[in-house]
Amino acid sequence: MTRPLILLTGATGYIGSHTWLALLASGFDVVGVDNFSNSSRETLNRLHRLSGQTPDFVEADVCSAAAMDAVIRGRRVAAAVHFAAFKAVGESASQPLAYYANNVGGLLTLCQAMQANDCKTLVFSSSATVYGNPQQLPIREDAPLSTTNPYGASKLISENMLRDVEQADAAWAIALLRYFNPVGAHESGLIGEDPRGTPNNLMPYITQVAVGQRARLQVFGNDYDTPDGTGVRDYIHVLDLADGHVQALRYLLGQRRGITANLGTGVGYSVLEMVRAFEQASGHPVPFEIVARRPGDIGACYADPSRAREMLGWTAQRGLAAMCADSWRWQSQNPHGMAP
Ligand code: UDP
Repeated sequence: MTRPLILLTGATGYIGSHTWLALLASGFDVVGVDNFSNSSRETLNRLHRLSGQTPDFVEADVCSAAAMDAVIRGRRVAAAVHFAAFKAVGESASQPLAYYANNVGGLLTLCQAMQANDCKTLVFSSSATVYGNPQQLPIREDAPLSTTNPYGASKLISENMLRDVEQADAAWAIALLRYFNPVGAHESGLIGEDPRGTPNNLMPYITQVAVGQRARLQVFGNDYDTPDGTGVRDYIHVLDLADGHVQALRYLLGQRRGITANLGTGVGYSVLEMVRAFEQASGHPVPFEIVARRPGDIGACYADPSRAREMLGWTAQRGLAAMCADSWRWQSQNPHGMAP
């Protein structure tokens, strides 16, 4: 049987690289695209080691129409998984045009190249950020959508654009996957999250404190309406997230219809619970101090993951201990990330 070829954009990034391996292990071939704007070439060496094959890779920007057309035209691409995007909320507020250009413009360019080459199956990386400040927990996919920053707006605009594309042409089949909080790393410790500069997200900050690169974690507020007052999120192991993409592709290619689905565990943990779990998994202390709330943060956010279970046959398998142990293995084996 031939292996369907999947185009991955943002292929050397955190979620892209783990999904690359999951696809290869699940009977797909992959061509990866990235411009290394927020990832390292070294990822390709690591993927080579882990998969036992030379990665099929094209260095290109998703905003380049010629490059996207060339990648798709030259091969029989069955579907695309579009990860390539900027993702820092704070930065999006100071550089909104860069965010709209890359996140919305890149998606538009990719879709035009796909349409021109009659490739109309797409998995899109969306985010729980499209739920804004949720009124009801756990969050279902039919919850009201809103945004509070340009990053979130870029995801919501992208979702709306893709819904219009599907409406206009039934040949398109699109999955909008709304990620909760990806953490963890491949069990090998060879690939993982590799943020540039000061991490914005909780888990990479914790791991850098534990490995001794940063003095202490700042906990952004302990006066939320949550059991211990700190923010509660739905952390999901990146390997589970990767499997969710495989299942979404199988669904699209089999059913020829679209789906919008949360990818989360359905369980929320507070910042302090994350600190304790990480200390236990790593055997290293994580000193912290309570500081003011981070502007724009919400108190609690966790998924109702039942739609993905019912329609994709997918549920997260890995618990908090595995998330912490795998994050720690990656960080301790690569104290400076992918950098040689
Ligand atoms: N957080 C924190 N200190 C940090 C980074 C994050 O206390 O240095 C908290 C943040 O306020 C939130 C949770 O950790 O309650 C998850 O934050 P993250 O930025 O990872 O994800 P998001 O807020 O986008 O869900």
